Amino acid sequence: MPNIPYCDPDACVRAGCDPVVCTGRGVPSNTTLFERSKSAIPGGVNSSIRAFKAVGGSPYIVARANGAWIEDVEGRSYVDLVQSYGAVILGHAHPAVTEASRKAAGDGTSYGAPTPREMKLAEAISDRVPSCERVRFMNSGTEATSTAVRLARGATGRSRVIIFNGNFHGATDALLAAGGSGVATLGLPGTAGVPAEAVANTIVAPYNQVPEVDDSVAAVIVEPVAANMGVVAPAPGFLAGLRAACDRVGALLVFDEVITGFRLGTSGAQGRFDVRPDLTCFGKVIGGGLPIGALGGRREVMENLSPLGSVFHAGTLAGNPMATAAGLAALDRLDADAYTEIERRASRLQSILDAAASNTGLPIRTSRIGTLVGVYLGDALAGGALPTNFDEAKTTDERLYAKVFHALLESGVAMAPGAYEALFVGLGHDDAVLDELERRVDRALSSIV
Ligand SMILES: *Cc1c(COP(=O)(O)O)cnc(C)c1O
Repeated sequence: MPNIPYCDPDACVRAGCDPVVCTGRGVPSNTTLFERSKSAIPGGVNSSIRAFKAVGGSPYIVARANGAWIEDVEGRSYVDLVQSYGAVILGHAHPAVTEASRKAAGDGTSYGAPTPREMKLAEAISDRVPSCERVRFMNSGTEATSTAVRLARGATGRSRVIIFNGNFHGATDALLAAGGSGVATLGLPGTAGVPAEAVANTIVAPYNQVPEVDDSVAAVIVEPVAANMGVVAPAPGFLAGLRAACDRVGALLVFDEVITGFRLGTSGAQGRFDVRPDLTCFGKVIGGGLPIGALGGRREVMENLSPLGSVFHAGTLAGNPMATAAGLAALDRLDADAYTEIERRASRLQSILDAAASNTGLPIRTSRIGTLVGVYLGDALAGGALPTNFDEAKTTDERLYAKVFHALLESGVAMAPGAYEALFVGLGHDDAVLDELERRVDRALSSIV
């Protein structure tokens, strides 16, 4: 392919070059683009996991994606089990989402004024998730959890929040706290740049154990199914126990359903486990793959938000017309039948991995809760048990994960580049895709034994 001196899409097309991936500096490859990105973006990425630090090597750079498939700038296609960490549950570039976003873009991309689309998406969420009597939109899951913390503190007049070791709530200071082992402790900063004062009121407790909750606690914030330490189920009674502990002292129960919301079913983990939180954080699926976050909850609590109440919240692009249009298009297609189908596919993914593990003797264990699949590698837990908390999840064999990850990538299957991420299938992963996935997984895993 000729080297095109500057980005001219017509020249690209004439030269048989792909205008999407053309950078005006010769034939692009994953490594040349990543190297070049590193001179413009710290580490070459805008979300740290994408840099492959946990698994080694250099990331594939995406040119485009469709349904279950993702294509890199070198023209290689992968069966994608990342699906934007679950955000694109209909599959990449679903025509309904594409059309809704295109239409919204044509109507103007942001106004600084209320719109019918944000109203309809708020209604769609309230209709499906009864605990969400009011819904406020923002631009990411991180904003949803940070707003939940501020709202809970403002509404209760208390400072403390309890979170759980191994749960992830985005990149918000108060929730980036690391916990100790096995017991509830005052959080330590989970990253440089978070001062001890920012987490001085954050208590980190072990997952799946109901902590002591006293009347200094504004909120207990939990991933009702933990999906950022592999996929870990809530122990029987854990979520109901949190509800009761909060009720005893007037603390708010906050479910972080950024992953589980509209992934586990129309009413999320709270519907599945029948526990009603005061506040719920959403993100990912509700934007159809566009940037979004939302906080929903009980009317009396939500009305503490400005302009009705004294807890400030604002956002220039909040309730964005394109994101809410894409989200509405997605939720429209996510009825009970869609979840039944996605769950069947998740179950097939699990069987494919389980069969390949048993054929090769590799210690790959899968967990599945509804449509969510996780893997745990190794034999560190007695009796081949699956993790129930972070201390156990951390015993996964990260080096084996890296090996499995690269073998799969080489065979054309993309998993997340980190041992603690869930695997995502959606409406793009039809039987033909899953048949192909099975062949690729078998080939990949046989290659490493
Ligand atoms: C992804 C995620 C977040 C953060 O959402 P962003 O949109 O990435 O800011 C928060 N909580 C959970 C449970 C998540 O999985």
